[in-house]
Amino acid sequence: EKVLVSGASGFIALHVLNVLLSEGYHVIGTVRSKEKGDRINNSFEKLYPYAKLEFVIVPDIAAANAFDDVFINNPGIQHVIHVASPCSFGSNQSMEETYLIPATQGTRNMLEATKTYGKNVKHVVLTSSFASILNADREEDPTFIHTEKTWNPITWEEAKQNKFTSYIASKKAAEQLAWKFLEENKGNIDFTLTTVNPPYVFGPQMFEWGVEPASLNASADVVNRALKVPFDFKGPFDKPGGVSCDVRDVALLHMLPLRNENLAGHRLMPFSGTGVKQHNYSDAYFNLQRLLDVFNAKFPELRGKISPGNISDNTPYLEKNFHYNNDETCQLTGIEFKPFEVTIYDAVKQILDHRKSQ
Ligand code: NDP
Repeated sequence: EKVLVSGASGFIALHVLNVLLSEGYHVIGTVRSKEKGDRINNSFEKLYPYAKLEFVIVPDIAAANAFDDVFINNPGIQHVIHVASPCSFGSNQSMEETYLIPATQGTRNMLEATKTYGKNVKHVVLTSSFASILNADREEDPTFIHTEKTWNPITWEEAKQNKFTSYIASKKAAEQLAWKFLEENKGNIDFTLTTVNPPYVFGPQMFEWGVEPASLNASADVVNRALKVPFDFKGPFDKPGGVSCDVRDVALLHMLPLRNENLAGHRLMPFSGTGVKQHNYSDAYFNLQRLLDVFNAKFPELRGKISPGNISDNTPYLEKNFHYNNDETCQLTGIEFKPFEVTIYDAVKQILDHRKSQ
């Protein structure tokens, strides 16, 4: 079965490709340059010598009709996974150009092209975000439980002053647009929509060449920066960092809707340490202290080099966070989401091994 994956060069998308290829799907990835496609192809060839993986160049997902040719040239595409969206905070362009236009126009282009030319497409999966769920003003309110049904009330006008809020609002706008598109085209289209709404996505890069490049996607950068906190750093260590999940679980959530019709029409929310059998709703909370605790506990070579922090009972600080319940996702998918410590351990081990090999 042929699957189209947009933004195939990204941190999350490379793991999505890995899951799809390991399951025998034929993958067509979109990338912005031939060099990126070649490098990914070379790396996957070593893992799956018989994989069916090809790339097409889509330099800008926001350009008019960006994906039309991909479908015209590949009429057999049966599934679409739209991952591409701006996810770093380094640009000097306006907030509209940096976030809103690529996020929304890219999503619209993909849905329009699927509708018009993707006659064999059965499932569309959109990488949305916990950003389109969270209610920022309820961060410390234990009576407000974020679920798969919750929407972020933020408007673009409120958000566009600041890069972080602009990113959040762009993700919400893109997801809203997608559900609306499905509603408006009911009866005219044969495909379903599922969204994946992860909070901060951590974990190892798919390939070693992604470990310490000049610019990293925003979430991987959190761990890389924490690893550079010097021994004599004075803090603060308690500032709420956010809520986490594992990149490998996120990748799995992108594949499951291709084969499980029960996931159609749902928003899937992964959180570290949750699952049908385990219900640890605090495991996903992180701050700098928690990252430093894992680093120091599991990597003796870092002790004395990076800060140990100064908080012994971190729980009260970690609990100052968004409250949530993802039972629906856990029950629908059956995934036991990886615990925070496992995710961070695997990410850091990869970084340290990479440094040793330099
Ligand atoms: P990356 O920055 O690694 O991936 C983003 C991908 O989108 C890259 O392949 C990038 O291409 C591509 N892209 C961005 N803008 C354009 C554009 N205008 N035209 C063509 N391609 C474009 O980040 P992630 O892997 O983390 O993000 C992937 C998705 O996951 C995004 O939709 C993001 O919003 C979402 N997400 C991420 C979270 C996280 O914590 N990382 C949390 C929740 C959601 P190139 O490599 O060439 O720049």
